Amino acid sequence: MSTPIETIPFWDYTATTGPEHWASICPEFATAAAYQYQSPIAVDTATCLASEAPSSLLLDYQTQTFMVDTFTQSIHLVPTEFSNTLTFQNKIYSLQDIHVHMPNEHVIDGIMQPLEIHFVHRTSDQEVLVLGLFVKVGENGPALPTLNWTQGATVVFNPADLLGATNHYFNYSGSLTTPPTVGPVNWVLLKDIQIAPAAWLDAIRESLPCGANNRPTQPLNGRHVHVY
Ligand SMILES: [Zn+2]
Repeated sequence: MSTPIETIPFWDYTATTGPEHWASICPEFATAAAYQYQSPIAVDTATCLASEAPSSLLLDYQTQTFMVDTFTQSIHLVPTEFSNTLTFQNKIYSLQDIHVHMPNEHVIDGIMQPLEIHFVHRTSDQEVLVLGLFVKVGENGPALPTLNWTQGATVVFNPADLLGATNHYFNYSGSLTTPPTVGPVNWVLLKDIQIAPAAWLDAIRESLPCGANNRPTQPLNGRHVHVY
């Protein structure tokens, strides 16, 4: 998430200050981790609940300017204004941050992917929705924006150009996947896996401020995943 790293205690993905220890780093992290519906999760598509309602996900993304910033163990594309919006189940959310996890955090039917991109949105009431996009390596995908992932760079692009189809997705309620792992967060995980050349993924990996930055999957605790 987009809390500047200097304002929160240090954490990472290593054995000593990694996910198994986040809850004991400070009281704020402990309180957040006590929320019983944590993310990411492993999704078993055989047990998902098929939605009877049609998809109500509507993206309204335009070309805009983002600042590239490395903090909280990821690379973030931070929009200079919150003008891009997404509507889901009649709520309007604005896009406030894009960041990456390598490899993926959510695991669909046990399959790992090299990259999961999180598009973090908030309503005016600070309700959070994260749109998750999985990316795999391939040479036959669409032309993706060529992004400069270097700290301090400015990039101008339409985030919709990173996405494939957006009408099929998994939806469930969870938390942020980085400390403090607060909830609820409304998760929308796109089923359409994006295809990117190896070099496109390598450019991200080379700019990541750390190695693997994926939190392990968390217990469902009775939650259901809806599929559209
Ligand atoms: Zn994330």
